[in-house]
Amino acid sequence: MSGAVLGLDVGATKTLGVAVGPDGRVLARERVPTGRGAAGVVAAVAAVVDALAAAVPAAAPRVGLGVPGLVDPVAGTVAHAVNLGVDGVPLPLRALVQERLGRPVALANDVNAAALGATALVPGGRADLAYLSIGTGLAAGLVLGGSLRAGAHGAAGEVGHVPVDPYGAPCPCGQRGCLETVASGAALAAAWPVAPGEPPAAALFAAAAAGDAAAVAVRDRFAGGVAAAVRLLCLTADVDAVVLGGGVAHTGEPLRVAVAAALAAQAAGSPFLASLRLPERLVLVPGGYPVAAVGAALLAAGAAGAAGAVGAAGAVGAGVTGGPLAPAEVPASDIPGAAAAPVPLPRTV
Ligand SMILES: [Zn+2]
Repeated sequence: MSGAVLGLDVGATKTLGVAVGPDGRVLARERVPTGRGAAGVVAAVAAVVDALAAAVPAAAPRVGLGVPGLVDPVAGTVAHAVNLGVDGVPLPLRALVQERLGRPVALANDVNAAALGATALVPGGRADLAYLSIGTGLAAGLVLGGSLRAGAHGAAGEVGHVPVDPYGAPCPCGQRGCLETVASGAALAAAWPVAPGEPPAAALFAAAAAGDAAAVAVRDRFAGGVAAAVRLLCLTADVDAVVLGGGVAHTGEPLRVAVAAALAAQAAGSPFLASLRLPERLVLVPGGYPVAAVGAALLAAGAAGAAGAVGAAGAVGAGVTGGPLAPAEVPASDIPGAAAAPVPLPRTV
């Protein structure tokens, strides 16, 4: 078959790649451990691409990469990806991978890539949405009018570092009282210590469900922080959907229920907030769905569609900041982009 595109999610411990068909289905997937530093990252990417290309020989040549850290889509560089062993001087990752593979490469921050992938999870496909990654930290990606909105300096959606308490706990970013100090995997792990190897979020939600009063208090405070992030995103960009992803979202439906309850509680005294029906906008990434890798594939498809030429490096930026996705890559095409009222969304999980 033809029309498939390849997308990779380069993580600190593993690199996961998928081949996505024109109908949005995942045709093949491959994962390998990610090595440290530039050489390790390039080797992992090459191994995954080679395996996917063997599995889906007719896939388009362009490859999309979602990587952690600060991505410059025009220069094709990555910086501050400490977990990959990439820090300090920006790494010209796009050029390195293109040289190794002989394929054109599109590059985006992994949360932004996941935001693109999340468009496949909501009715309307390209309606305005936010993807809220609740991993070790807290960050969001925005798709507005069908295009990624990375911002003028790549910092759009960094809601985790919006200070909500000027006297709150110190944040790794250097500020105090950031949302991330309340609503993140790291914050949850600090508030609910568990044995080594045990997922803190799963343990906390299980204990709360069993009626442990301390666990209920910690869970509700955490959910209130996530709800604050959701409220912030909806009041800033009035997105149709906030898609919850990241490691903590593996908790599944109990997380969505807790955050929805927190949103309802926050709106209890505000007819204005209640009218926005924020709980109905929550969507969970289904367990096991490779949202960032799928998004990276959509990025590659969009960049190719927008550029029309392999050599147009800036076209990668078009895919990130303003270029259209290839329509065939987005499952739903009925876009309620002009809808003034919030659109109720069914639960994905
Ligand atoms: Zn911060």
